[in-house]
Amino acid sequence: MAQAAVAEPPDFSSFPPNTVTPFERTVCLACVSGVFTRVLGLTARKAAQEMKSYTPTVQELTSHTPVRPYFLPAGPKAHCPYCDSSSRRYARILAYRIEGGRATDRLRRELVKALMDTKGSFAVLEERHSHDEAFFSWLERMASLRPDQEGWIPAVTEAFLERKLPKENWREVFEQVHTIRRSIRLEEGWEIDNRRLFLAAPLYHEVMAVQYILSRSRMSGGLTFEGRLTLAELVRKLRLSGYLRLCGIEAHSPADILEELTHHLAGGDGGVKMYYLVDRRDFLNKLKALPMAARQKRAAAGA
Ligand SMILES: [Zn+2]
Repeated sequence: MAQAAVAEPPDFSSFPPNTVTPFERTVCLACVSGVFTRVLGLTARKAAQEMKSYTPTVQELTSHTPVRPYFLPAGPKAHCPYCDSSSRRYARILAYRIEGGRATDRLRRELVKALMDTKGSFAVLEERHSHDEAFFSWLERMASLRPDQEGWIPAVTEAFLERKLPKENWREVFEQVHTIRRSIRLEEGWEIDNRRLFLAAPLYHEVMAVQYILSRSRMSGGLTFEGRLTLAELVRKLRLSGYLRLCGIEAHSPADILEELTHHLAGGDGGVKMYYLVDRRDFLNKLKALPMAARQKRAAAGA
């Protein structure tokens, strides 16, 4: 049987940046099949049928340390670490976590509608995250931007504004502007004037706090619009500007303030739905080849 070409990934180009996180897992079909045949006592053929509807759980797709039948292959020809099957017996499962909300709901529904087929090439799993959890996974993604590299301040600012105000085309805005300033005129929102991006004070301070959180280190504080600041310096600036009062933050110690501030930046109480679009195409293709391989083996043994 000819090897199926690598399938094109779903097209997320119309989604706002940083709303989709990819995951990749390798699953050993022989291990899955073993559970169905040895543990549940099914025939190989019946097991293959049952496996057609097998979809990983969110936990299996996202956990940092995969457990059987999932593993991280050491190389393209590596064998399954649990049962030593060759790479023909394992499949790649790709998944895309889409953060739910107004910015993505319509796009996601359209994409899912276009991808769904009777073969079950794609599946959708749902999970509810608190705003804090969603914000921390965003911060984790942002950690790939390095504060010691040039252009970090505008890059982080753009990414946060994309998250906060997803309806604007921030890519376009940032292509036009040279500098980012705090507006003394605007009470909310932002404007561009003479290639400068002006952020209203609340937005400016929000971005500053995010910059601090992303770049802070024990020794040297965090990097912000206003230079390197220790936590105490950041808190003083945010208090003097009235931003802490505006957010309703009443804690006194800088550590407690930072905790409340992070919760506020995340979106406060409540949560958001996460959708996992699971690409099962490689899994189904590899599965198709399985019973055939079993039959060939039996024929070879009988000969
Ligand atoms: Zn295995």
